[in-house]
Amino acid sequence: MTPPAIARYGLFPLAMFGGLALAWWAMQRISPPLVVGVASLATALVVAVAERLMPFDPAWNHPRGDRLTDFLHTAVSFIALSEVLRAVFLAALAALFGAAVVPWTLWPVDWPWPLQLLLALAIAELPYYWLHRWMHTVPALWRLHAVHHSAPRMYWLNAGRFHPLDAGLIFFTQLPVLMLLGVPPAIISMFLVVGAIHGLFQHGNLDLRLGPLNHLFAMAELHRWHHARRGPGGHSNYGGNLICWDQLFGTRYDPGHDIPPDAIGFEGDETYPTDYIGQLAAPFRR
Ligand SMILES: [Zn+2]
Repeated sequence: MTPPAIARYGLFPLAMFGGLALAWWAMQRISPPLVVGVASLATALVVAVAERLMPFDPAWNHPRGDRLTDFLHTAVSFIALSEVLRAVFLAALAALFGAAVVPWTLWPVDWPWPLQLLLALAIAELPYYWLHRWMHTVPALWRLHAVHHSAPRMYWLNAGRFHPLDAGLIFFTQLPVLMLLGVPPAIISMFLVVGAIHGLFQHGNLDLRLGPLNHLFAMAELHRWHHARRGPGGHSNYGGNLICWDQLFGTRYDPGHDIPPDAIGFEGDETYPTDYIGQLAAPFRR
């Protein structure tokens, strides 16, 4: 059953723009890392509940032995590892400059925060775009990234299904780039809030429509095509949050209809390990 248009078109903009306004308000009052954590958990809850009410594919709501694996990937690659890498990078800055910030100002700190955030997103998307594109075209990198594309279905927890080495490379395309540009910590925290909201919705099993916002965000309608088993979709829509670089480099793909749910994955994924340890080792197996 098709959900009401207001839910199909309204849920994502409400969660994204409402969530950002709320996060900015909260960030002036409580610690930014706490705001990022609460925003991530709240979005996960909203997406997980909405998946029951308005699924893209009802069959994708049934676990396929993937939940524990996806949970462990999320906990290790996106919570523990990113905290460790962030602490190491801050320590390196402190060792170099005597403080965990760069001693130069390249950032338009006077701009209104939404513009600063948009600029930070667009800048960090460029190295991410190329890393992600190479992940699909350089065989050694694809072996790492195949973990993400081995998902047998798409649902909210796929957002964290990344091999730690894949997640580690992604980390260096984003936060260090912003920190080296002197982006204020509050804007970096807002960047993380966008990433959490967008990533969870991008992989969510939700029958959403973005309309013209599909030319701004790299959201689920486009990202499901990125997960295509064959055809041009699998070599398109590399954007993490924004679709601007795909647009510029000619890899935005929107055929105007949905991908069939059984058309995601990659050739040979039937024999790909499904357990966490097996997926950690998979890139190094023959
Ligand atoms: Zn990919």
